[in-house]
Amino acid sequence: MSGPAEAVVDLAAVASNLRAIAATARTDLMAVVKADGFGHGAVPVARAAVAAGAAWLGVTSAAEALSLRSAGLTVPILSWLHPHDEDFARLVAARIDIGVSSVAHLHAVAGAGARLGVPAAVQLKVDTGLSRNGATREDWPELIAWARKYEVEGGIRVSAVWSHLVNAEAPGHPSVARQVEAFEEALRFARGAGLHPRLAHLANSAAALIAPRTRFDLCRIGVALYGVDPFGAMSGGEFGLRPAMTLRSRVINVKRVPAGTGVSYGPDFVTTRPTTLALLPVGFGDGLPRAAQGRARVWLGGQRRPIVGRIAMDQCVIDAGDLPVALGDPVVVFGPGTDAAWTVPCGPTEPTVAEWARWAGTNPHEVLTGIGARVKRSYLSERVETR
Ligand SMILES: *Cc1c(COP(=O)(O)O)cnc(C)c1O
Repeated sequence: MSGPAEAVVDLAAVASNLRAIAATARTDLMAVVKADGFGHGAVPVARAAVAAGAAWLGVTSAAEALSLRSAGLTVPILSWLHPHDEDFARLVAARIDIGVSSVAHLHAVAGAGARLGVPAAVQLKVDTGLSRNGATREDWPELIAWARKYEVEGGIRVSAVWSHLVNAEAPGHPSVARQVEAFEEALRFARGAGLHPRLAHLANSAAALIAPRTRFDLCRIGVALYGVDPFGAMSGGEFGLRPAMTLRSRVINVKRVPAGTGVSYGPDFVTTRPTTLALLPVGFGDGLPRAAQGRARVWLGGQRRPIVGRIAMDQCVIDAGDLPVALGDPVVVFGPGTDAAWTVPCGPTEPTVAEWARWAGTNPHEVLTGIGARVKRSYLSERVETR
């Protein structure tokens, strides 16, 4: 490890997660690699997912979609969150499907397709309850009418109808069945108006794993691809998911201090006994949530040791107790939760990102996407799998 901190991304875990989800969902899968692959690196994750069988890639922005194409990924890509005056011609030229939720967007996309003489591939999004993007039930007929007109004229081709769930992470939540019904009604309406979308898709990770009626032709897989159990279990045991990212650092300063020593700003923490403090060169500027203060643990010397005092922008302090610690000792901030202390059968393991999220009162998605640009990403591929 060269720099102060490193996020090691296990691409074999990404591949294994994709295969595990496919075995359960039994549909084609879209690997969602938005937000730089949930912080893991969009291109390496996309390559691993496609090699493992992902039929589609999903992103939210034109820049993300185009950078996947520039990296040589030729599979179908959907991009779905654009300003109405986006330069859609770039997307059409790069054969990227465009998620469309409003008539204004459709005008612009169809204009780009007409100018290029290539029908833009459009995936019409219906709002079935989330109230974010997607056309409302009231606006759907007008969007469909325009889509039909533009399809006949040759500016677009409607490749899919899709929507997004509100509460897929709550097993059996009544909103899921309501959304499936609203979605089927929107799909029937589109077909009745003369459209022939090849695909219908609604499910995210959670729904793909437990809600068969939401699966349709394709499931859009985000957090589970990265090995995080969408139902919040500490590990992905039930579904065989393996957390892909390990955030590692090293001790860069060590000091023995007496009882009564204040640690970090405030100080919010004062030692109650003589102890060894180990300094870690990662802080909230690297994505360690400040809100985890007082609860956070890291893996040092085969033990879980607490971070004490405030997490600063660039650093935080570990209370190592009487553990012998040396400069350069490795620290795992979070990992797959498998690095158990070999001395203690079934003993503790390094923390997982799900635990960090709980300590910070947020979700693992936010912790993963928050891992900063200073943290170097490195990749374990299938061939050099070590576990
Ligand atoms: C982010 C996102 C997903 C992936 O969701 P997960 O719950 O992480 O699987 C799927 N669909 C849409 C529209 C999204 O924005």
